[in-house]
Amino acid sequence: MSIELPTLDIIEGSKEIATTGEETYAAKSKRSGEAKKGKVYIESYGCQMNFADSEIVAAILKQDGYSTTDSETDADVIFLNTCAIRDNAEQKIHSRLQSLKALKRKNPKLVVGVLGCMAERMKQSLFEQEKIVDLIAGPDAYRSIPQLIELAESGQKAANVFLSLEETYADITPVRREGVSAFLSIMRGCDNMCSFCVVPFTRGRERSRPFQTILDEIKMLSDEGFKEVTLLGQNVNSYNDEQGKVNFAELMYRASLIDEKMRIRFTTSHPKDISDELVSVIAERPNLCKFIHLPVQSGSTRILALMNRNHTREDYLKKIEMIQSKIPDCALSTDIIAGFCTETEEDHRETLSLLEQVRYDYAFTFIYSERPNTPAAKKLKDDVDNATKQRRLQEIVTLTKRIAAERYAESIGKVYEILIEGDSKRSSEMWMGRTDNNRVAVFPKTGQEKAGDFVKVRITNATAATLIGERI
Ligand code: SF4
Repeated sequence: MSIELPTLDIIEGSKEIATTGEETYAAKSKRSGEAKKGKVYIESYGCQMNFADSEIVAAILKQDGYSTTDSETDADVIFLNTCAIRDNAEQKIHSRLQSLKALKRKNPKLVVGVLGCMAERMKQSLFEQEKIVDLIAGPDAYRSIPQLIELAESGQKAANVFLSLEETYADITPVRREGVSAFLSIMRGCDNMCSFCVVPFTRGRERSRPFQTILDEIKMLSDEGFKEVTLLGQNVNSYNDEQGKVNFAELMYRASLIDEKMRIRFTTSHPKDISDELVSVIAERPNLCKFIHLPVQSGSTRILALMNRNHTREDYLKKIEMIQSKIPDCALSTDIIAGFCTETEEDHRETLSLLEQVRYDYAFTFIYSERPNTPAAKKLKDDVDNATKQRRLQEIVTLTKRIAAERYAESIGKVYEILIEGDSKRSSEMWMGRTDNNRVAVFPKTGQEKAGDFVKVRITNATAATLIGERI
């Protein structure tokens, strides 16, 4: 049975895009006074873009008179802001929706909505599969959420999954969690068509925010006391404000001048777009962090061609050489997919040898999971058996951990400036912070410092993921 969707004349439709991760974020409203409308609970899954989007959703709802809550049991509206990058990311949402059924039974007026990439990918079929869902909104449809809630409250299934060529939410100031570090979306969508990736179909075409709105927001974050900002986009290197004639290198340069004490990070980069100019700017400006996440996905040129990555192993290694020659202490991380279609043992060994050559601090590693309607799903055979995928993944993980442990051990005896983020997870007697090149460091509190301070720490020990030190 197909479901008639109420139409909303709000956003011009166009094309497609997407991303990763996991965790929960209950948006905290800083709104004062009585809420005129209901309370909204937002749970975010996937990449940092999704977490940043939840802050935009919270801002849109706040403007409309809603408040946000950290408690699902207290909520009138529950949103799951979802990821579609892998099948298991979607399975998590299906089981989360099951777990919300008890709340819906208790309160039949509760509105349950699915936002983000999974909503965009599944569209009406989500209503058919999950009866509990009242509302769906794709990544470019968040301005229409107040109207969608009203429709859902009147008993209709409400949906807006139009993708936009223009929407950047540039005029919306996100409702951020308090802390030392903020995320800031500078662009949306992706024009690359990596064959495994659902993002171009769930987040639409690439669009850049006007540069001045970004610089103004960084200034505001600095005035509010944030000490670090991460510029976000599916492919930030191709940021381009055509009207302002500002590319990503120029944007980073201008951003670095706003508050010379504020650390600026960015993610994610595509290897084909990372330029000499950008790396030179990072090298020159002290507050641009010496850390680059540069997804490679595979070490085999043959597999990279099947993935439609638009770079070879050799191109990638040349970029790494360029980065390491300009910024010798630059830390690197990457994404790797194990067991992509037709991957042989030789291809896999090329991935392992690339890991040895580059020596990343960290790698996000995944088993290939076919996503419906992607070019890989249409044209290639997912022919590597699961046991082989698992074994290859394990070999990649073991190697990246060994290399990370070696790299972290090289820090012992050195002194780093650490931005304190808060208590260490293991002990409230210890602080947790990060080096400029994104390594987590813990050290005992002295009573002389607080979260948000920059302090000098000598490293005395290290694991594969944490530096341990003492303040000097
Ligand atoms: S660059 Fe490739 S992997 Fe990254 S979001 Fe775009 S299509 Fe997906």
